[in-house]
Amino acid sequence: MPVSSKTSDVLESLTFFAFVAITALCLSFTFSMVVYRLGLPANPKMFVLTNLVVSTCIAIPTAVIASQHEFRLRLYQRRLEALAATDPLTGLYNRRFFRQAMDEEIQRMKRTHQTAGVVVFDLDHFKRVNDRFGHKTGDIVLTEVAASAFAELRGPFDRLGRWGGEEFVILLSNVTLEQAASVCDRIRARIESLVILQKGQAISVTASFGACLLEPGDDPDTALEMADAALFDSKKAGRNCVTTRGQMEIAA
Ligand code: GH3
Ligand code: MG
Ligand code: MG
Repeated sequence: MPVSSKTSDVLESLTFFAFVAITALCLSFTFSMVVYRLGLPANPKMFVLTNLVVSTCIAIPTAVIASQHEFRLRLYQRRLEALAATDPLTGLYNRRFFRQAMDEEIQRMKRTHQTAGVVVFDLDHFKRVNDRFGHKTGDIVLTEVAASAFAELRGPFDRLGRWGGEEFVILLSNVTLEQAASVCDRIRARIESLVILQKGQAISVTASFGACLLEPGDDPDTALEMADAALFDSKKAGRNCVTTRGQMEIAA
């Protein structure tokens, strides 16, 4: 996952640069004034001027180096943050970060009084894919499925995570259960139509989905359990389908 700096990082580094440069110049100027008052130099104006030029020559490069160092530290911090939040195989949110995103969504929902959809989906008979094509190819299939599911979602509003193994989770922001079911079905159909070519072989997989509604004040873990129970129902119903738990909204 490429890590880019934020505008705030650049601004903070520039502020840091200005702070170091101004502090150095102020110190130098104060020192010059003290020396000038004491009447030590033979040519005071020349002394102050020389002092300012010399200290500028020192202050600017010092500030440049310090702010560059500060900027690199921030970039490194961003990289660490991204690593801590990402599943290395698929590049999706990992379990811990997804769970954190759910907590944040609940807080947001308490303010906006909106609802969200929680989805768990799992690849069908994935063990067979590994057994037949090998674990490495299985990994490629997981990556392709992740990319396909991601492509069906609404950018930063929906969150897709890898819950573990061949199980994925989705948090659909500001949707009804009916809308969540329809998004699931779109992803299901997209995964079903996916053909992955590996070593001259065409590999296809399907996935089963479980979805439920998350309301302000709900417990995220209970919602995940509910979606998981719905997924279990999809498996029992023959796989490659979507099951919801909870009240569907009646269309007007
Ligand atoms: P079901 O339709 O009931 O879900 O059947 P399944 O075969 O998908 O389910 P099961 O839980 O029996 O097997 C999951 C398989 O997923 C077993 C394991 O080898 C595979 N798997 C889990 N994590 C990874 C991974 O990171 N890479 C690969 N290639 N395979 C994985
Ligand atoms: Mg499975
Ligand atoms: Mg599984």
